[in-house]
Amino acid sequence: MTTYEHFIGGKFTPGEGDRFGDVFNPALGKPQSKVNLATAVDVDAAVSAAQSAFETWGNTSVTARARIMFTFRELLVRHEDELAEIISSEHGKTIEDARGEVVRGREVVEFACGIPQLLKGDYNDQVSGSVDMHSFRQPLGVVAGITPFNFPIMVPLWMHPVAIACGNTFILKPSERVPGASDLVARLYVEAGLPDGVFNVVHGDKVAVDAILEHPGISAVSFVGSTPIAKHVHEGATRSGKRVQALGGAKNHAVVMPDADLDFAADQLVAAGYGSAGQRCMSISAVIAVGPVGDELIAKVRERTLALRIGAGDEPGADMGPLVTAAARDRVLDYVAQGEAAGADLVVDGRGLTVEGHESGFFVGPTLLDNATTDMSVYTDEIFGPVLTVLRVPTLDEAIDIINANPYGNGTAVFTSSGEVARTFQRNVKIGMIGINVPVPVPMAFHSFGGWKDSLFGDHHMHGPEGVRFYTHAKVVTTRWPHVSEQSLAHLNFPTAQ
Ligand code: NAD
Repeated sequence: MTTYEHFIGGKFTPGEGDRFGDVFNPALGKPQSKVNLATAVDVDAAVSAAQSAFETWGNTSVTARARIMFTFRELLVRHEDELAEIISSEHGKTIEDARGEVVRGREVVEFACGIPQLLKGDYNDQVSGSVDMHSFRQPLGVVAGITPFNFPIMVPLWMHPVAIACGNTFILKPSERVPGASDLVARLYVEAGLPDGVFNVVHGDKVAVDAILEHPGISAVSFVGSTPIAKHVHEGATRSGKRVQALGGAKNHAVVMPDADLDFAADQLVAAGYGSAGQRCMSISAVIAVGPVGDELIAKVRERTLALRIGAGDEPGADMGPLVTAAARDRVLDYVAQGEAAGADLVVDGRGLTVEGHESGFFVGPTLLDNATTDMSVYTDEIFGPVLTVLRVPTLDEAIDIINANPYGNGTAVFTSSGEVARTFQRNVKIGMIGINVPVPVPMAFHSFGGWKDSLFGDHHMHGPEGVRFYTHAKVVTTRWPHVSEQSLAHLNFPTAQ
């Protein structure tokens, strides 16, 4: 059985710790490999390696940094199948779905290939007599990324290509449930020619995370995961003086208006609710049916839900795989029971599903609950499973009020054929990422990704222009080359333009 080791200073190492995590194959319900869990000493070793690499990398030309990103991008293309298989086997999502995240993550590397353009500064000639001013940005130093299980390669790729292209050195603490993709990414960076110590991987759990938060040698932390841990990371990192962006959980609503194309909306809702077994931070989990649309919409969603094929991620034709762990499966089953007990109508019940040949797998079938209310736990909590919960309201304004009262603010969508409805919706919802007839509106790499409210703690969204700002400090330089005759002009007043 493979044991995944840390990757520190260009070398794989088991580190100092004697704790290990099991990495499961969720479709089989069995461990398939192990992972070393880091101690604070291992984190310190990674910081030392990254600090010494920064001395050179931070001064490497921006052109040379871009070239390595181009090579890394080609290697990600060449290893797409292998990456998708690793992700599917550890996470459970279908191979095609995993391939999608490899592609979307790779797009951030393509964005980072443009780093010479992205780091261009500004210049003003003659801001005062014989005085010019220019601004530019420089890397922070050693930065760290802490990532969740549900996108084993895409979420880390939101962070490290931008951070590294900006001239920082990076420590990745991936989810201990899905270490395989990060292991391969480390090997690909070596092949791309990235110097030792610029990219490091420290596997682990809370012990490693807390050591990162406290380490004085780390300048900034990027986090993606659940809201309670995002808060913990934001508080811990700011307490020790770090810059931090901590993206949390979600409860994404899709509003379906009476003027929507209901077949189109039903197709999209099923894809967005059950894709990756609902384990996406941009999954739709609450559907708000407006006005008379409910009965017809539910019938269409039900029909499509019953047609889904559930199986192991590597099974040809499977639409949806298992949950990541037995605990995640049990949690989802419990929420469905709570929803039913609270009075929601169980239109499709995914409990009790067994998949032939995978009887011990962590499967839950797609589940559809109708007539839920905003006080039910099946609505208030992030379930993170294949459960669509439908609420019915009479008007768009009430739908928007529900969305705005929800503590999460990651993504939302409206299905409509009215430009006026779409405009009202996008202007009034307190949400970071909005889809108009697009249920999973994940921004492209050259825009930035992030939510509002309890879905993001910190100021900056991830990748895109905000990523570049997050991973760099600004400098503004005021320059004068005085003539000898001007030297007598100095006085003690606060300087103003002349
Ligand atoms: P998680 O919060 O359990 O774990 C995320 C990271 O934090 C992991 O690396 C984990 O090792 C670490 N961690 C876990 N418990 C910790 C603790 N007590 N102290 C310190 N560190 C700890 O999240 P998950 O279950 O891996 O991922 C699913 C969650 O991530 C969902 O809530 C989902 O919405 C969220 N998510 C959000 C986004 C976004 O962009 N907002 C994207 C993907 C996932």
